[in-house]
Amino acid sequence: MRPESTIVPTIHQKMDHFVARWLESTSDRRPFLHCRQGCDKCCSMAVHATHDEAVGIARRLTEDQSRRLAEYVDGLKEVLACGVQFRDYLRWHPQRVGHCPFLSEASTCGIYAQRPLSCRALLSTRPAAWCATDLAALDDWDRELYRQSLDPEFVAWPSHFIAATQTYARDLEAHLLARQKSRYGWSLSGNFPLLVWLEREHQVSHRPLDVCFRRLTGLNAESLFVLDLDPSKTSTTN
Ligand code: SF4
Repeated sequence: MRPESTIVPTIHQKMDHFVARWLESTSDRRPFLHCRQGCDKCCSMAVHATHDEAVGIARRLTEDQSRRLAEYVDGLKEVLACGVQFRDYLRWHPQRVGHCPFLSEASTCGIYAQRPLSCRALLSTRPAAWCATDLAALDDWDRELYRQSLDPEFVAWPSHFIAATQTYARDLEAHLLARQKSRYGWSLSGNFPLLVWLEREHQVSHRPLDVCFRRLTGLNAESLFVLDLDPSKTSTTN
């Protein structure tokens, strides 16, 4: 079995330090942030993670989390069976797939200490109801009002989330992926719960790479992932 990546906790710590420093250094000028404990709106959005982040979670799930994960994957399979494109998957996720399976009954994160970079980076400058809103469904007038309500110095347009923390999270993700690729000849990132499920049910990290390909293809889920290969180190049948 491939050993768990020891760098993930360090990378998560770096992210948390960055967020804390950013919050402190911008406290006198940044927009009001609406995130607070017990708010779970962003947990119905499609969550992205690296495979290394998912491996540790897959090995520590409780029975209840495993059950919820299986239900989530069943719901996602139904949506994928309709042949949705990536853009529609992002739009439809809150309504048609629903909450992250690791959200607890009390609306708190059940894997808080191990939650992925993308969750750590999300800071909302609009009230919670906007976090899962399908902006494409707004008419031009409402979309323009929404745009004008945002501070372009701080947000990652076309969203109301803080840009600086997301950019930093992407840099750290790139670092994790480059490290995985140089060690194993491939790296994988994409839908977080599905990555955990793939690892838990099919142990993709210590099987031939073509198993991973087949699982993603069988689910119509290839478009939800980025699989990066180093041809000098990997073949799909090794
Ligand atoms: S991992 Fe935790 S914070 Fe992230 S979406 Fe799931 S429940 Fe929410």
